[in-house]
Amino acid sequence: MAADAPRVLARGALGHMQSAAAAPVRYALDVGGTSIPLNDLLGRDVTLRFVGRITCRYCGATTRKSYGDGYCYDCFKTLARCDLCVVSPDRCHYAAGTCREPDWGNAFCMQPHFVYLANSAGPKVGITRPQNVPMRWLDQGATQGVLVMRTQTRHQAGCVEAALARYVGDRTDWRGLIGRDAPRIDLPALLVQLRDRAKLELAALDGRFPGALDWIASPTPQRFDYPVTSYDGAATVLSLIVDVAIGGTLLGIKGQYLLFDTGVLNVRRFTSYHVEVAHGDPIERVRAGPVAGARDQMDLF
Ligand SMILES: [Zn+2]
Repeated sequence: MAADAPRVLARGALGHMQSAAAAPVRYALDVGGTSIPLNDLLGRDVTLRFVGRITCRYCGATTRKSYGDGYCYDCFKTLARCDLCVVSPDRCHYAAGTCREPDWGNAFCMQPHFVYLANSAGPKVGITRPQNVPMRWLDQGATQGVLVMRTQTRHQAGCVEAALARYVGDRTDWRGLIGRDAPRIDLPALLVQLRDRAKLELAALDGRFPGALDWIASPTPQRFDYPVTSYDGAATVLSLIVDVAIGGTLLGIKGQYLLFDTGVLNVRRFTSYHVEVAHGDPIERVRAGPVAGARDQMDLF
């Protein structure tokens, strides 16, 4: 039957997952510049085959390994966006004159940022630029999010994030994220608690950055539903292996994860890997055990 014939959807380097706010959230996978709408593929067989090539997403050089988020080693060691301060912005060292790329720092970091609270398998605090709202939450698979403060720079937002994270955390429990729908959290109530618990740290930051930290007067929480029909494959973590088609029936998309009946693939982990994405391709199913067994394993997490 023609409908069942394997069909290659795209070939090329894996880019980041693109997301759009809708009910449910819509995702597209960037493969070599081709955008593959994923929601339309739910319930169908989808495979990714790593063709054994990785190219740096910045300079395009072939690299044996991917560093950071899809870079070659040289770029990873020299680009400001690969520096530690990008993930820990409270450690920004621009003021010390040691920013790897001051022009990039000016454009990326010296602009307004938001501090937010979100529910991505549990409460977390994070920061984002205004143009990334709400995509930042969709990239994390957060079911709820609320902006709580506006700052003038990334560094300021990072300092507030670090202060609040002492009481709430800034990491996502990824196993929880891909294993269940997160229980709802009263984020405005959580904010009141956090502001109280962190009041000494927040007062110190107000003194350090006078007039720069703007609490949002009436925080408005947002909710998101994800295109997930089942979490049955969540106990197995999939990896890209040269010349092996992995995947299976696509059960869902959440954050950076593709949920198959055979397991879950963290797409971002394989940024810049060259793949061939197909659907309708028969694959050798390598699931470790029956679905019931997978559920048992989930209890161990
Ligand atoms: Zn490079």
